[in-house]
Amino acid sequence: MPVTDVRGSGYVQDVMAEVRAKNPGEIEFHQAVQEVLESVDLVLERRPEYRSARIVERMVEPERVIMFRVPWQDDRGECHINRGYRIEMNSAIGPYKGGLRFHASVNLSILKFLAFEQVLKNSLTTLPMGGGKGGSDFDPKGKSDSEVMRFCQSFMTELSRHIGANTDVPAGDIGVGGREIGFLFGQYKRLRNEFTGVLTGKGLNWGGSLIRTEATGYGAVYFAAEMLATRGQTLEGKVCLGSGSGNVAQYTVEKLLQLGARPVTLSDSAGHVYDEAGLTPEKLQFVIDLKNVRRGRIREYADRFKGVVYTPTDPAAEVNPLWMHRADCAFPCATQNEIGAKDAQHLLANGVYVVSEGANMPTVLDGVRQFIDAKILYAPGKAANAGGVATSGLEMSQNNMRITWTREEVDDRLHKIMKAIHRACWDTAEEFGTRGNYVNGANIAGFLKVADSMMDQGLV
Ligand code: NAP
Repeated sequence: MPVTDVRGSGYVQDVMAEVRAKNPGEIEFHQAVQEVLESVDLVLERRPEYRSARIVERMVEPERVIMFRVPWQDDRGECHINRGYRIEMNSAIGPYKGGLRFHASVNLSILKFLAFEQVLKNSLTTLPMGGGKGGSDFDPKGKSDSEVMRFCQSFMTELSRHIGANTDVPAGDIGVGGREIGFLFGQYKRLRNEFTGVLTGKGLNWGGSLIRTEATGYGAVYFAAEMLATRGQTLEGKVCLGSGSGNVAQYTVEKLLQLGARPVTLSDSAGHVYDEAGLTPEKLQFVIDLKNVRRGRIREYADRFKGVVYTPTDPAAEVNPLWMHRADCAFPCATQNEIGAKDAQHLLANGVYVVSEGANMPTVLDGVRQFIDAKILYAPGKAANAGGVATSGLEMSQNNMRITWTREEVDDRLHKIMKAIHRACWDTAEEFGTRGNYVNGANIAGFLKVADSMMDQGLV
């Protein structure tokens, strides 16, 4: 359920009312904007010039929205029509940058929320990247490689008119991994006859960066480690709940294992597995092969390993049993709003005091408020999962310089960036009188750099 009780000044209430009226039915977009505006209200009191320049009103309006038809044929020769999108949200601090999502649920609201969050997230990375997001309601699940290739080629045939290494640089997201980026890149190169860093997440033989695949998950764990350090603690021995079993979840688990934690759950849209003994590097390898090569379901993990309980998802239920296990930390790594208000209650009641969001906006607004009120270590996605796009930024730098950094070098830069984001969030929350509130810290720190750049560049 969308939360509508906006907390903030009359100005913020008015902007929110206008956002709702101008973007009817776009509940995820409303939610993302509301969360940010409630933080940014603290800045607007001190910086009235932002109000007169209508910075906030400009930031909630995409610079450009591209929507297009994507026709393709399946292996039996039948025709299908999907819808493609690219939201070019804000280019104040660099070319548009953000992933492509292929999932049946994709619509304008979801992509606008993701693009809006991306603007602030990219600003937090300290790298020169604007914000965008795109994708399609195409569902790659159950499709053959040839079908996915034909879809990607058709999608890129239109998208190629709008993107470029200095204009807009897409990457992967849900449903868009290495396979899809390969097909998209191949078609862009064929159409434009140029080999450029127009996409990130590329294969290592053709311009990709080491550690890009691992970056989002590793980054979310580095961020959790930084939060724990503020209380003199480490991840060693911590019991961790994780959701999803795709790219972000896999490398969150890998880094947790390296740091001595005990991850005990993973999921997909059909259900979750609870492995009380904890995942191991061997079990994780099984998941990576299951999800990235065989493209199977997480249920098979419970069939393969002893002592594992599989619980199917009940789509009608108000709660997700994954969040009911006793643990210290939670890493939601599947999708938006996967932690509902009751799930947040369960997490707190079961001892969780660290939440680091690998996914984008996985917690409903009511849940966010519960975490903040309980004063747990709670990192919103735009801070905790920024390691992915930061490493995409490092991929762009390597492409521009035509060099390749080693695995250690990229990981070291990623680690330093996550520490810097943590520091910026911590310091900014403190500066605005809300010590330990990483939501305010992330929203305000991300906002300030974009707002000041927009002020410098005039009314555009
Ligand atoms: P992915 O590899 O496609 O994996 C997504 C996982 O989440 C799968 O296990 C999927 O299960 C599950 N999932 C997706 N939609 C779901 C739904 N509606 N209900 C329940 N489970 C669902 O995607 P990913 O790259 O790991 O992305 C996961 C999250 O991280 C997303 O929120 C994404 O925006 C965010 N993120 C990703 C990156 C990145 O670099 N990839 C960076 C920053 C943030 P099924 O297979 O059953 O659908």
